[in-house]
Amino acid sequence: MSVLKPGSTLGILGGGQLGRYMAMAAQSRGYRVAVLDPQEDAPAHQVANTTIVAAYDDPAALLRLAESCDAVTFEFENVPATSLEPFAARGIPMRPGAKALASCQDRILEKTLVNACGIATAPWKPVHSAREASDTLAELGGDGILKTARSGYDGKGQARVRSAAEAEAAFAKFGSVPCVMEGLVPFLMECSVLAARDVHGRCETYPVCENTHADHILDVTICPARVSEASARAMRARTARIAEELEYVGHLAVEFFVLPDGEVLVNEIAPRPHNSGHLTIDTALNSQFEQHVRCAMGWPVVPYESIHTASAMANLLGDLWEGGEPQWEKLADFPEVRLHLYGKASARPGRKMGHLTSWAQTPTEAERLVREARAALVAR
Ligand code: AMP
Repeated sequence: MSVLKPGSTLGILGGGQLGRYMAMAAQSRGYRVAVLDPQEDAPAHQVANTTIVAAYDDPAALLRLAESCDAVTFEFENVPATSLEPFAARGIPMRPGAKALASCQDRILEKTLVNACGIATAPWKPVHSAREASDTLAELGGDGILKTARSGYDGKGQARVRSAAEAEAAFAKFGSVPCVMEGLVPFLMECSVLAARDVHGRCETYPVCENTHADHILDVTICPARVSEASARAMRARTARIAEELEYVGHLAVEFFVLPDGEVLVNEIAPRPHNSGHLTIDTALNSQFEQHVRCAMGWPVVPYESIHTASAMANLLGDLWEGGEPQWEKLADFPEVRLHLYGKASARPGRKMGHLTSWAQTPTEAERLVREARAALVAR
């Protein structure tokens, strides 16, 4: 399989911050970038060589993208299958490919694939009716989470349910669409493994990241995760196994729950660069975006190579703008903290506007630094 030469064009479906960083990584290697996103001022449109402002299922726009690119990738997993047709018809490499996308945009298919690899998840069952919702909840011990099979993110399309009535009401509230019911997992920690797999099937993983969420949105990532060697090894090996099963090409992240006894369960797969991987921009020799672009353009994957002993990342959500523009000048007091902003004009609560990265000798120190720096931005 040959490498796509610099000068050729990477097409990206989706123009948010992930698309923007992919575009910048591609351009650094001499590639051109064409982005399709419905928003005129989308973060990736601001840096793209070719911008196509249209809906993701607009046939004419997809055709234009297909005609202008040599390989295509995605910044989100909910790309409609029909949107892939113009690329498949022209033999344009889609990286990751259709199998990975289809498996990761449906929780039923995703969990089935993971379990078929012999890898544990939270106990779960597919749910297709209100009756199934209440019955499966009872089977799982009466405390669970109902999740829509498709289109959920950042906690959307999820409901904690503790009784048959709650399970049936949640199923109805989601529009009676296919769901999964999961047993509640008493996890000690949530982690993610960043991995990249190339066209030759070679896979590299990054040291495990430890993630804390606030209101279901990633808040802080710390690397390396404060877990045992055995748990870390298991997470990295299982991620590589899943990437192989998906015939994956590109960068992905697998999210895990770590149980009190050190056992690990797969939560979900993100078939793209991931918010928890943003720290690799500043703390790895090869970032998740560099790896994604390398793999998409047919280059062999390379080691990520962490360049700091420990690092951390704190998201900057729109909430931080409530009292006015954050005081960026406060970051002058934090030489080991780096600011990233995505070029979004309006700050809404919950909207990911940017992030901070820090590095230090220990994960705990890196976490302290990044949290202190973020707090300083709004301290009046
Ligand atoms: P997800 O969209 O599946 O990643 O779920 C969002 C968040 O909900 C996770 O990061 C966990 O904090 C929590 N969560 C999801 N599933 C479970 C589960 N089975 N048990 C306990 N907490 C869960």
